[in-house]
Amino acid sequence: IRRKRFTEKLRDSVQSSMEMAVMDQLTGLHNRRYLDTRMAQLFNESALRARALSLLVLDVDHFKAVNDGWGHDAGDEVLREFADRVRACTRGIDLVARMGGEEVVVVLPETPLRAAEAVAERIRRRVEDELFAVRRGAQHLPVTVSIGVASRRAGDASPVEMMKRADEAVYRAKAAGRN
Ligand code: GH3
Ligand code: MG
Ligand code: MG
Repeated sequence: IRRKRFTEKLRDSVQSSMEMAVMDQLTGLHNRRYLDTRMAQLFNESALRARALSLLVLDVDHFKAVNDGWGHDAGDEVLREFADRVRACTRGIDLVARMGGEEVVVVLPETPLRAAEAVAERIRRRVEDELFAVRRGAQHLPVTVSIGVASRRAGDASPVEMMKRADEAVYRAKAAGRN
């Protein structure tokens, strides 16, 4: 029995170190390291098979104001809830990863631009439509998100180019009034 318990404990600890290497601790989303590796694979697969691949870059609007006005812990609560809502709008085969700070990337395999735009719009609405609970439900605040969408183009040599277009689109969304 002692040996069995030891083996189980060891397995759990290996499992959790592996998870820690690829997961973001705050949100439970994948981390940036995992995103980079996995996105390169998904990009190559989609190029080889001539299948669609799309990408969303999400950036919470005026997130600094949440931290400044409500405190860093409330900011963390918003990030967790934000992650849950994004996850709820995506499929199991989609890759959802926290890039860092209040930025999340969603990679959508087998998804053309138009369909990716629809996913982005669904996320945008889901974030805007219901207030975010902070201080364990004692208070609620409005949150919006700006999203850039891009798809793989035949001429793209790597996911970096696609990512750059999505980033530029976020920038335009911010400049055009956010949300
Ligand atoms: P914009 O609408 O232009 O995106 O404005 P913004 O305030 O969202 O953008 P900015 O990049 O200025 O602020 C991001 C803030 O996110 C600043 C940083 O302190 C905060 N932040 C980054 N990581 C975390 C985190 O893990 N928890 C919390 N609470 N805040 C974080
Ligand atoms: Mg940002
Ligand atoms: Mg922001």
